[in-house]
Amino acid sequence: MGLDEDALEYHEAKPPGKIEISTTKPTKTQRDLSLAYSPGVAAPCEKIADDPADAYRYTTKGNMVGVVSNGTAVLGLGDIGAQASKPVMEGKGVLFKRFADIDVFDIELDDADPDGFCAAVERMEPTFGGINLEDISAPECFEIETRLRESMDIPVFHDDQHGTAIISGAALMNACELTGKSFENLSVTFSGAGAAATATARFYTDLGVDPDNITMVDIDGIITEARAAAGDPHEYTEPFATESGGELADAMEGADVFVGLSVGGIVSQEMVQSMATDPVVFAMANPNPEIGYEEAMAARDDLIMATGRSDYPNQVNNVLGFPFLFRGALDVRATDINEPMKQAAAEALADLAKEDVPDAVVKAYGDEPLQFGPEYLIPKPLDTRVLFEVSAAVAQAAIDSGVARVERDLDGYRDELEA
Ligand code: NAP
Ligand code: MG
Repeated sequence: MGLDEDALEYHEAKPPGKIEISTTKPTKTQRDLSLAYSPGVAAPCEKIADDPADAYRYTTKGNMVGVVSNGTAVLGLGDIGAQASKPVMEGKGVLFKRFADIDVFDIELDDADPDGFCAAVERMEPTFGGINLEDISAPECFEIETRLRESMDIPVFHDDQHGTAIISGAALMNACELTGKSFENLSVTFSGAGAAATATARFYTDLGVDPDNITMVDIDGIITEARAAAGDPHEYTEPFATESGGELADAMEGADVFVGLSVGGIVSQEMVQSMATDPVVFAMANPNPEIGYEEAMAARDDLIMATGRSDYPNQVNNVLGFPFLFRGALDVRATDINEPMKQAAAEALADLAKEDVPDAVVKAYGDEPLQFGPEYLIPKPLDTRVLFEVSAAVAQAAIDSGVARVERDLDGYRDELEA
């Protein structure tokens, strides 16, 4: 059977879907039930009414993330609507649970309008320790995330924006280390100006790339100051607008880094050959990259390459990020996932790639040697060390940047996660 048939069977098998609720406390006796529900449940209610922070003590709030979508940009399928997005959101819940033991309610909100969407999500704050926004189209996603981060006291994180930014940022740190290039002088060309590309460009500037050295190209060519002045494609690309226009090929000439977050097959070998020495190509359009791995590697000898695919080296996979960002954020009851926390996650991933890889991880990836270098820039998703390295780094950054609501002994925390 093909993948599609297998996937339908997988989802349809009883019970339909991929997740269920289970209870965590005894429910065998009459007494158990009067503790779980009325009349016993009134006691924790009163505690929380007196001190809302007690919700973390007596309810699931502190380990519960809302994965919220309006279905306007689902995978590469486009605006298929909230209901049709549900398998993706349930799947995100599976990954949260599998990688970081975080529980998820998937919320499919039938509202494409930022005002209505934000109003609904804001009112769900009592339920959740954090909100993972998912598959919301650009440019509305920028406004929605900005507004909710401002108005809510729990972390709000749009994974389609920041996941790729953080993980490719880690890969870029290590690529620069290998080639001896510094972020300050890096010239970076983006293909795409959507959710992922815009956030990634912003994140790279946080890491030290000069916005003047970033060029963004979308379907209409290079985003120029003239276009930006007219609000084209949207205000969030304005910092990267350049004086002179042109096509993608013009923007790639002499560039140190190409970041593809657009569509497959639009980069040629000639374009790769026109880049600076020791170039980096992150061709991350899914399922087909902007240029195929083999095709790009055949274009020149000094290339460092990453894609979004699991069948080639250096897979930029968001699952290396969101479970651990939320794990670290929840465990210090952070009010936000802020820029220092995102940077700490990227640095922890980059550092971990330089450590020896345990045999079990090597085995899980077909027994190919995994050693820090051009073909191993970032850890593998099934490497269990990512959980405690990244979560602890994120928790530390939350404490240091003043958004943590509880202090933790982080050595103890790390050991707890490792156990
Ligand atoms: P998005 O918001 O829809 O953005 C897509 C962008 O690409 C838009 O700016 C679009 O311009 C532009 N574009 C379309 N055709 C183009 C062309 N021929 N040349 C240049 N630009 C073109 O989507 P997204 O969420 O940012 O994702 C973009 C791509 O990155 C997808 O393929 C996605 O699968 C991939 N991605 C990969 C990872 C990963 O590997 N970890 C993570 C996130 C996203 P218009 O708006 O004008 O059409
Ligand atoms: Mg997504």
